[in-house]
Amino acid sequence: MTFEEMGLAPEILRAVKAKNYETPTPIQEQAIPAVLEGKDVIGCAQTGTGKTAGFTLPILHKLREGRSPSLRVLVLVPTRELAAQVHESIRTYGRYMRLKTGVVFGGVNIERQTMTLRHGVDILVATPGRLLDHMRQGNVSYKNLEVLVIDEADRMLDMGFIPDVRMIIKHLPVQRQTLFFSATMAPEIQKLAHEILKQPVVIQIARQGSTASGVRQVVYPVDASRKRDLLLHLIEKEKMDHVLVFTRTKHRADHLARQLEGKGKRVAALHSNKSQGARTRTLEEFRRGSIQVLVATNIAARGLDVKGISHVVNYEFPDSPEDYVHRIGRTARAEATGDAISLMSPNERGNLRDIERLIGSKIPQVTITEFKSHGHVQEESPRREFRPRHQNGGGPSKWRRPVFER
Ligand code: AMP
Repeated sequence: MTFEEMGLAPEILRAVKAKNYETPTPIQEQAIPAVLEGKDVIGCAQTGTGKTAGFTLPILHKLREGRSPSLRVLVLVPTRELAAQVHESIRTYGRYMRLKTGVVFGGVNIERQTMTLRHGVDILVATPGRLLDHMRQGNVSYKNLEVLVIDEADRMLDMGFIPDVRMIIKHLPVQRQTLFFSATMAPEIQKLAHEILKQPVVIQIARQGSTASGVRQVVYPVDASRKRDLLLHLIEKEKMDHVLVFTRTKHRADHLARQLEGKGKRVAALHSNKSQGARTRTLEEFRRGSIQVLVATNIAARGLDVKGISHVVNYEFPDSPEDYVHRIGRTARAEATGDAISLMSPNERGNLRDIERLIGSKIPQVTITEFKSHGHVQEESPRREFRPRHQNGGGPSKWRRPVFER
């Protein structure tokens, strides 16, 4: 679909042309029609995907009618840099329209911002703290507000702004359109989204080319003490005949290998304490298939090219999210697909957040009833509200459905 086919007004198309955008980006393709239709939107996308134009262009289209200036659109962002950047984009895309825009953020003199607000703006970009200051001074009225945009909600959370955001939202008209963007969807973010959005369209954009495309990724939340049993369960259930398991330390690799051996698996450990000869032999046996499970540390796995690895298991997440991408690149090398499974204990949730931020998409989470983790219980309940539309559920009932599917 082209920008023209989306039915955007000529003055907006002109600004898009002036920027030399030829075709809409994936998030624009999905967000623009939804916003034009008046729907609430959750966009799971990060900077660089074109999300700013994704919400700005249809909002500008809607603003062509109506009394100006009166505050009709509020865009909340976490940082002053982002505020300035989003404001600049709005000015650029709205350059052929008669609109007043304003931006307010902390750390600078408040007087000039007060003047701008008192003269009236159609669109206001703001960081939460400074906006609350202006609200306390009576500088803003929301009685004509039509659209609220929350950008980079996950960074709002990281920076402790969620209470401020909630406070602001309390003062907004209930009848409004809300657009909500976040690179990741932590439980607190989902909760907030659930509270403030009405039947949202869910849009999820993965960054292109960041992970091997044939790899199916899934995360199993589990208590650390149950990981070994869950791994054994999955090896059987998923028929993992050629699996590479990653641990963070050599000690853990040895320990886990011994435990699996005790359960009758053909297994070996691979790490830098092993002699070169032993490593070559182990790899050869793994290649031939006489070893079913290879337990390895990161270092051992860099550049490892074994054909036909059916599964990569992160027994523990790596320290750096980049290593996750390297690890799961070990599967799906020759074949079209492979599975990358991560066992996540409650204290590894931050690692997952970093990984999801890096790869630009959510990894589905699956809980198996008998391995249900008490440490993860809190974050489970609100999730199911946010299944994307058209997701085909199904599967055995003891499996909780993945939250997001790609
Ligand atoms: P954003 O994700 O909104 O920060 O945008 C990332 C960059 O993509 C910005 O430099 C935009 O100017 C650019 N951009 C946005 N939409 C398009 C498009 N349809 N075609 C080409 N570049 C775009």
